[in-house]
Amino acid sequence: MNDVVLTGDRPTGPLHLGHYFGSLANRVTLQDKFPMYVLIADYQVITDRDLPGAIQRNITELLLDYLAVGIDPAKVTIFQHSAVPELNQLLLPFLSLVSVSELHRNPTVKDEIAHSSQQAVSGLMFTYPVHQAADILFCKGTLVPVGKDQLPHVEVTRLVARRFNERYGEVFPEPEAMMGERPLLQGLDGGKMSKSRGNAIALSATEDETAALIRKARTDSERLITFDETHRPEVANLLTLAGLCLGRSPQDVAEEIGDGGASALKKLTTEAVNEFLRPIRRRRAEHTEEEVRRILAAGNAAARERAIMTLDEVRAAMGF
Ligand code: ATP
Ligand code: MG
Repeated sequence: MNDVVLTGDRPTGPLHLGHYFGSLANRVTLQDKFPMYVLIADYQVITDRDLPGAIQRNITELLLDYLAVGIDPAKVTIFQHSAVPELNQLLLPFLSLVSVSELHRNPTVKDEIAHSSQQAVSGLMFTYPVHQAADILFCKGTLVPVGKDQLPHVEVTRLVARRFNERYGEVFPEPEAMMGERPLLQGLDGGKMSKSRGNAIALSATEDETAALIRKARTDSERLITFDETHRPEVANLLTLAGLCLGRSPQDVAEEIGDGGASALKKLTTEAVNEFLRPIRRRRAEHTEEEVRRILAAGNAAARERAIMTLDEVRAAMGF
């Protein structure tokens, strides 16, 4: 059986290096091998915040980021959650397949609640992993390139697919998660690099912005730079970033810096990141908003067509 690939991102801000090494690089490779859908999860924005914010702007920027890293709309269906209402209709039977305590146990949901800016935790916070099951299963996705934080959600999807098939007959595949080279890239503060935590290096940041961000990163005062994730996590983090961008091991980078101290480490990391991002930034500038609108309109229509087929099959299986 041939794989179908599904991934996505929330339009909550510009994509960063964590996305690149966690998921985007895999997408670029996989788009040549399999049918692939990329979801812009706009409804998911309001899981952990009260308002959708500059949603249209963020969607445009997200699409430009995709084009910049080499996602090819001729090969990939890029679409918006809110443009495919069938996804919400799939959510309903899927919700009946999971228990409340299963929803409460999800470790990623717990972490996101801890970082949420919302006054009160919304119901969507607990149900969005099931929404994600609909996002993956509407196209019978089998392969999901994601970062580590998404593993519990892919488990929920597998559970939903399995239980649906047990109750109503074989309709869905059980998808597999596929992790990138760096399934959990840390941000400049040592926590998960996240759009919404102010600790990320955006793919679209300028060279000066990148330099300023790295200058502010925490390090220590020891001259000799070594790669020690347990005792020197901040230094190790910068070495990891530089290594990923240079295609070298962090130990190797540490050896090159030797006793140059934090300033040499930051200088090398800044150059490595800027060099790596240069072609991505250049490609980003080559695309227009008009092009983005056309890509989305075509992707939305194609995804909707696929979703209608699956929803018909689901209703028939359930005897509706
Ligand atoms: P937000 O803070 O708004 O939740 P985010 O940075 O977590 O944004 P998402 O849109 O939630 O980004 O995630 C999109 C994809 O990128 C997911 O597959 C996720 O696992 C992956 N990803 C996000 N951050 C990282 C990271 N630091 N390292 C590796 N993968 C990541
Ligand atoms: Mg996230």
